[in-house]
Amino acid sequence: MARPLNIDAAALDRAYVLHPFTNLEDHARTGGPMMVKGSGITLTDASGKTYLDAMAGLWCVNVGYGRAEIADAIREQAVTLPYYHGFSSMSTDTPAILAERIVKAAPEGMARVFFGSSGSDANDTQVKLVWYYNAARGKPGKRKIIARNRGYHGVTLAAASLTGLEGLHKGFGIPLDFARHVRAPHRLWEAEPGMSEADFVARLAGELEDLILAEGAETVGAFIAEPIQGAGGVIVPPKGYFPAIQEVLRRHDVLLIVDEVICGFGRLGTMFGSEVYGIEPDLMTIAKGVTSAYVPLSGCVVSQRVYDVIAGAGRTHGPFGHGYTYTAHPIAAAAALANLDIIENENLIGAAAERGAQMRAALADAFGDHPLVGEVRGEGLVAAVELVAKREPATRFDPSLKVAPRVIKAALKRGLISRALPSSDTLAFSPPFVVTSAEIAEIVGRAREALDEVTNELS
Ligand code: PLP
Repeated sequence: MARPLNIDAAALDRAYVLHPFTNLEDHARTGGPMMVKGSGITLTDASGKTYLDAMAGLWCVNVGYGRAEIADAIREQAVTLPYYHGFSSMSTDTPAILAERIVKAAPEGMARVFFGSSGSDANDTQVKLVWYYNAARGKPGKRKIIARNRGYHGVTLAAASLTGLEGLHKGFGIPLDFARHVRAPHRLWEAEPGMSEADFVARLAGELEDLILAEGAETVGAFIAEPIQGAGGVIVPPKGYFPAIQEVLRRHDVLLIVDEVICGFGRLGTMFGSEVYGIEPDLMTIAKGVTSAYVPLSGCVVSQRVYDVIAGAGRTHGPFGHGYTYTAHPIAAAAALANLDIIENENLIGAAAERGAQMRAALADAFGDHPLVGEVRGEGLVAAVELVAKREPATRFDPSLKVAPRVIKAALKRGLISRALPSSDTLAFSPPFVVTSAEIAEIVGRAREALDEVTNELS
């Protein structure tokens, strides 16, 4: 369908849209780029300017823009059966086929998928599943969930409470009181100078155990973690971190929810991030990459052990009392199947590993020696460049200087989209898996020019 040509959509946007994670008054005055087209890793805005999208949208358009195969699958499902629900034993076929595919690709022990529409709603569902599971086991007191500072789990009430970023709590009166937070496994800022990786891991595991004991293990239901903390800073866990954490959780009968919303479906060069770090989830959250964001879809992947208890509780409670109108949406599932076909047929997980190694090497090359770069880190096709005022000892910039946001603005001017992550001055890179070697060189080159511009301003 053609859009009317004589409409000033940018003016309508400024006048009528309440934007997410945006300075609302500034936006109402000035607006921002309005994207109208995408192909591969390139976006075009309404003025005709093009951008290399080094963030794959919000870490999600993994197969790149403009994939006709997904559009065709969406259309075919829409004309065949656009919608039917999953309540009261009703079902449609694409979610069933997709659920099998996800379970078979997931870490051992995973058994069922509960579908939602966003990473946030899926994490809210995870909280309810933990509560329901523990109540059904006769342990209704096990309701607290431990998350990590700088963790990002979404914005709905429970998910935002678990998110460990101040900007999502301020003004809302959250976190709610079931949530607790422990230290992020971010060696640059959280380890003492000279502390070994093994000692840092021992400290993190020890602090988790201390918190469980202080709260009382009988009140703690689960721990939630991303394999790599994405929006909180692309924080790569130290070696041995997850095995050490899991050992503590098992001893205290605390479930592990692994939030694979960014890492799942290839981002780390493996199907799931859990594979990279030896994680054995009880519950796993998926979204983003399952459809490459062509349509919204999320899921809670549930282990057999948890599923058996939840299913058995039906004998007492009757039907499982949770579900959305859009749970197991057939169009979203059709899009996911087409997306997973592309990933498989084009070996895009292998490509993410290969291009990721290239990208991280190029970033290290371009930024490693820069006096304002404290660390270049990443795994697979996700990386971060953390900016510091001083390298030794690592010293943060005064936040009011807004160094990373200024670099992002300078990059945008050069037709590069990266992101400044909150909590410290970190630039993130997470391009679509179809990024080419030449595009990687271009991304890194433009990012370096942008940093040089801001470095000159600061000196
Ligand atoms: N979990 C993680 C790890 C995420 O990165 C995000 C979003 O960035 C979410 C959950 C929330 O997902 P959504 O924005 O789809 O609600």
